[in-house]
Amino acid sequence: MVSGWFTGDYAEGTDGTDGGFRLLGTRCSACAAVFFPREDAYCRNPRCPGGGELAETPLSPHGRVWSYTDGRYRPPAPYVSDPDAPWTPYTLVAVELEAEGMVVLGQAAPGVGVGDLAVGMEVEVVGGVLNEDADGTTWTTWNFRPVGVEQ
Ligand SMILES: [Zn+2]
Repeated sequence: MVSGWFTGDYAEGTDGTDGGFRLLGTRCSACAAVFFPREDAYCRNPRCPGGGELAETPLSPHGRVWSYTDGRYRPPAPYVSDPDAPWTPYTLVAVELEAEGMVVLGQAAPGVGVGDLAVGMEVEVVGGVLNEDADGTTWTTWNFRPVGVEQ
């Protein structure tokens, strides 16, 4: 469901290293625009000269908090939300990736609340658990966590 949006093992990101976890976007070879979520069909940059190819590229592992909020509504896809399950509020973070010139949305890592965040704070992308199926399959997603903060 979110296959191809990131690479790396979510479990590795919990030991203080980045674990090799990266969001995956695509970069246009003609204008160098980067897209996330990945765009594989055509370049959406209106100023693109055209003729480029979209190649998969890992995004920066670190960024800066651009905005954040505590989510009191159910998140959109690809987040799994059982309408019959009790809803647990979460923290949604918008993170600016300077190198790519874009803002990426994601949930804060478990245990990170709005009181732990500030605009401009450096955060890193880490793997997280999206959902666990009854058969034991674990679906992973990405979370943002302040750099240098132990969980
Ligand atoms: Zn382009």
